[in-house]
Amino acid sequence: MANVAFLGLGVMGYPMAAHLVKHGHNVTVYNRTHEKAKSWAMQHHGRIASSPKNAALGQDVVFICVGNDDDLRQVVTGEEGVIHGLSPNAIVVDHTTASADVARELACLLKANGNEFIDAPVSGGQAGAENGVLTVMAGGSSTAFAQVKPIIASYAKCAELMGEVGAGQLTKMVNQICIAGVVQGLAEGLHFAKSAGLDGIKVVEVISQGAAQSWQMDNRYQTMWQGKYDFGFAIDWMRKDLSIALAEARANGSQLPLTALVDQFYAELQLMGHQRSDTSSLLARLEKFRAS
Ligand code: NAP
Repeated sequence: MANVAFLGLGVMGYPMAAHLVKHGHNVTVYNRTHEKAKSWAMQHHGRIASSPKNAALGQDVVFICVGNDDDLRQVVTGEEGVIHGLSPNAIVVDHTTASADVARELACLLKANGNEFIDAPVSGGQAGAENGVLTVMAGGSSTAFAQVKPIIASYAKCAELMGEVGAGQLTKMVNQICIAGVVQGLAEGLHFAKSAGLDGIKVVEVISQGAAQSWQMDNRYQTMWQGKYDFGFAIDWMRKDLSIALAEARANGSQLPLTALVDQFYAELQLMGHQRSDTSSLLARLEKFRAS
């Protein structure tokens, strides 16, 4: 059993922290909006801290899952940040989807403080967090990762060290790049099926038995066909992730023409009011602009 803190009880963090309790760890939580921390503590009998710094006091591991680079910096290095409360040798594990640059920056600051940092973004969405079956892609030292891996197993079916600090975030970028193109392809297929007068459900039930099958197809075709787009990862988050990937691509010289195009489609969907719709709403954009 480890003494751990979990910071950021959002859609992902709330159930992840709960799994840590279920696996016997001693959990202290912090959330910026205190009410959420209160209801979590009532439900799961954990302790609440009044700041990231207080949450970090005396812990073996501090887990974080907040929004973006700036949120992460604030939680770690702010006036009441984690860095001011960490015990010597405590490890910080960050599950936020953020840039590889911020991971390296924070790892450097924490090293000077005597602490290790592991970037550990996740895949699997809300359902993966609730069911404790996330995939975790990590970057950091192998000794630090070996210490935290059994604790991460509380909410993950797979956790792998991908390389040095930043490698977890780079792997997550690959994940998002792959998803962007697949979802647009599925949206175009269903849009075409509708235009051709086909029964999209029957079409997918057949083609998903062959080479067109994908996770997006298996999990989203029915809701997409019904024009329902509130089943997963929001466009606002996806655009954050794609902008990180596109910036990294500019720095490393890779070409991401399809990712850049799909990012623009998501920008149009935001203007159409779909900020909180899930990523499969690419079909709504095609349907709006359907030629009559
Ligand atoms: P969310 O529901 O919006 O929760 C964000 C959490 O971060 C909240 O607890 C929020 O506190 C906290 N937070 C944000 N900015 C903060 C700041 N400056 N200081 C302190 N706390 C701050 O987001 P989520 O869906 O859990 O996602 C969290 C991360 O996981 C994101 O990086 C996202 O891209 C990634 N992710 C999400 C999914 C998914 O399906 N949702 C899947 C994979 C990865 P408040 O309660 O006070 O707002």
